[in-house]
Amino acid sequence: MDSPLSKPAVFRFAPSPNGLLHLGHAYSAMLNHALAMAADGRFLLRIEDIDTVRCRPEYEEAIYRDLHWLGIEWERPVRRQSEHFPFYQRALDELIARDLAYPAFLSRAEVRERMARFEASGEKWPRDPDGAPCYPTEERRLERTLALRWIAEGRQHAWRLDMDAAIEAAKGKLAGRSLEWNEAGNGPDGETGRVPAQPDRWGDVVLSRPDAPSSYHLSVTLDDAAQGVTHVVRGKDLFHATSVHRLLQVLLDLPEPQYRHHELVLGADGRKLSKSNRDTGISAYREKGLSPADLRALFARDGLVLD
Ligand code: GLU
Repeated sequence: MDSPLSKPAVFRFAPSPNGLLHLGHAYSAMLNHALAMAADGRFLLRIEDIDTVRCRPEYEEAIYRDLHWLGIEWERPVRRQSEHFPFYQRALDELIARDLAYPAFLSRAEVRERMARFEASGEKWPRDPDGAPCYPTEERRLERTLALRWIAEGRQHAWRLDMDAAIEAAKGKLAGRSLEWNEAGNGPDGETGRVPAQPDRWGDVVLSRPDAPSSYHLSVTLDDAAQGVTHVVRGKDLFHATSVHRLLQVLLDLPEPQYRHHELVLGADGRKLSKSNRDTGISAYREKGLSPADLRALFARDGLVLD
């Protein structure tokens, strides 16, 4: 058996360079780093830049600068998701070959239109945990030869997971065990401990789209496994996404990490911070002359622990 010493705990901070990091990112990075050090483990930085339109080199540079200022050391080389598209594509091809993914031609606007027409009759269209309309499941039945012709003609399409088929396939792999995860933090409703995964709430999630050859769900799941991440520590806003990640892990025979979803740093207005607000950017605090110790004190004041 492997002794714990031969397998150090692996933590990661995985920002997207589509804006400046804010205090919430600083907290997440500092917490991951502190936990990795306390466990004599490893701390990885991963640049999640699959969205090649919104991600920019200057934001990536700012990530390195901000983390360096926070006193955080990370391992090199840094994994940049944009350098691994063929890796994600192979997993997608496997899901397609297993009939668990299908080409989806409706744009977001078309889905919203369909929802509006449906809801005009007084019924409720299903929404995912982020509040976005779920993709219409009847699209799964689009005739395959027609879909292939459209693709050959160059029609824009995404690939989506057939959620019902995926859950069925996962059941086969789980052989009686239930799909769940170990939560060391808390979900939005206080969920903790062994938490049942509910991927069905997301509907047919996107696996790849025309402007990004891999989706967040697919690449984050594959990379955590490829990098041997043992502890996923991230904001509570990603708690429900874990249901999809657990499903993909089971389908693709990937290991199950531990999860800890932490409190979010909120703005003075009590709302989630946004990358577009420069005032709450890490660099704004640095320019105001604050130190990383001052940020720690701010977090402590709000009850945000760093252990
Ligand atoms: N890249 C994601 C973000 O910036 C975080 C991914 C994760 O921690 O799972 O929100």
